[in-house]
Amino acid sequence: MFEYAPAPESRSIVEIAPTYGLFVDGEFTDGKGTFKTINPASEEVLAEVAMAAPEDVDRAVAAARRAFGPWSALPGAERAKYLFRIARIVQERSRELAVLESLDNGKPIKESRDVDLPLVAAHFFYYAGWADKLSYAGFGPDPKPLGVAGQVIPWNFPLLMLAWKIAPALAAGNTVVLKPAETTPLSALFFADVCRQADLPPGVVNIITGAGDTGRYLVEHPDVDKVAFTGSTEVGRQIARSVAGTGKRLTLELGGKAANIVFDDAPIDQAVEGIVNGIFFNQGHVCCAGSRLLVQESIASSLLDSLKRRMATLRVGDPLDKNTDIGAINSRAQLEKITELSEIGSSEGADRWSPPCELPDRGFWFAPTIFTGVTQAHRIAREEIFGPVLSVITFRTPDEAVEKANNTPYGLSAGIWTDKGSRILAVADKLRAGVVWANTFNKFDPTSPFGGYKESGYGREGGRHGLEAYLA
Ligand code: NDP
Repeated sequence: MFEYAPAPESRSIVEIAPTYGLFVDGEFTDGKGTFKTINPASEEVLAEVAMAAPEDVDRAVAAARRAFGPWSALPGAERAKYLFRIARIVQERSRELAVLESLDNGKPIKESRDVDLPLVAAHFFYYAGWADKLSYAGFGPDPKPLGVAGQVIPWNFPLLMLAWKIAPALAAGNTVVLKPAETTPLSALFFADVCRQADLPPGVVNIITGAGDTGRYLVEHPDVDKVAFTGSTEVGRQIARSVAGTGKRLTLELGGKAANIVFDDAPIDQAVEGIVNGIFFNQGHVCCAGSRLLVQESIASSLLDSLKRRMATLRVGDPLDKNTDIGAINSRAQLEKITELSEIGSSEGADRWSPPCELPDRGFWFAPTIFTGVTQAHRIAREEIFGPVLSVITFRTPDEAVEKANNTPYGLSAGIWTDKGSRILAVADKLRAGVVWANTFNKFDPTSPFGGYKESGYGREGGRHGLEAYLA
């Protein structure tokens, strides 16, 4: 591989303050204590962020409740103006927000710049378009907003998950209290500033930072009408239990263990790109990642040769370098989880391979890794690793591929690679997954509903379907 000169994106475009408060009722206010957020690529402290105590959550929910009446009473076309304005400001500030996201999360700048930020703006544009057309969305002639939405999001796509949650909620006339993940609070706090810039009425969007307990207090709050959560299946289960019987509406977007199925007639070079994108995009911190490669036995060895050649060209390192393909793992805890599951993969008898690759001394890093000789019983074939680790399983017939693909407690996404359109349709029909990609992977669009079956959760985000979760 030839060497590239470093091509770092300038950090000076973003000004990070030493401390941040909670965004409640249009103002930044103190919480009870603070916590530090770090750059996972260097372990440098980026800022101290306020920790929301229960009384802060109460204040935020009360502010959202006060704002709900006037906000929901606005004509849809007026609400749309705010959403269009937010979308345009996000576009204008996209370079700054992309650098910030890469600093706080560890993802490569080319992904935050070319995937996350354009999709964030697109979500606000898309739902702005719905705000004055709710009566035509297929949920009755006069659908009503639910009230105050309590939203809890994870660290893998901090600003994008915020957009997935806030844009449809606001378009439908709800107000929100959102808690970002503890390791990635900064882009949500910058978004609070975007809301101020857009003159959004105080209380319509409130951002409270904190740990899991803050999230738990928010979703259990009696004055929250709707809960939307993205994160681990374990926490999703706890939330489902606590919300049961309260009358609150709930959507859960949880884990996945997607099968990326490659048939013997697939275009191999494209499939290799799709496999790489499926599992190494965003360091594999993707709920719909193609973490199980199901490859037809007759082409397995040549496909694996091509895949290994391609993996050897992936550049791991500084997230702010425009040439970087794989950035930092988001936290020490996540690195430990990936390391542990990978060690279990080896001890259970699977063969582990990574290309030679030098990892930086500081920060949290994991080389792109594949396991071959994986069976269905292996833990690495069943559990969500949420890192750059691919388990390779072979199959002989389409029926066997479908059976193995569906042999998982999850059901979020899947991929099919084949030359035959008829095979795509026949196989997609039998896969128990909310999203099925054909000859591509990890493609997202605000117009397209996204969500899972079984332990991957319920409800849909995105598209017309995404409005349903915020309307009565
Ligand atoms: P969590 O599910 O714990 O975190 C998601 C969000 O929920 C965070 O904002 C978290 O806050 C908050 N939270 C934690 N506990 C509660 C609670 N009891 N009630 C309400 N909110 C809560 O994911 P982790 O970050 O701990 O990651 C653990 C594993 O989950 C990962 O290794 C990965 O496998 C999986 N995961 C899956 C995701 C997906 O999209 N499918 C996304 C993230 C993780 P805080 O950050 O402060 O803890």
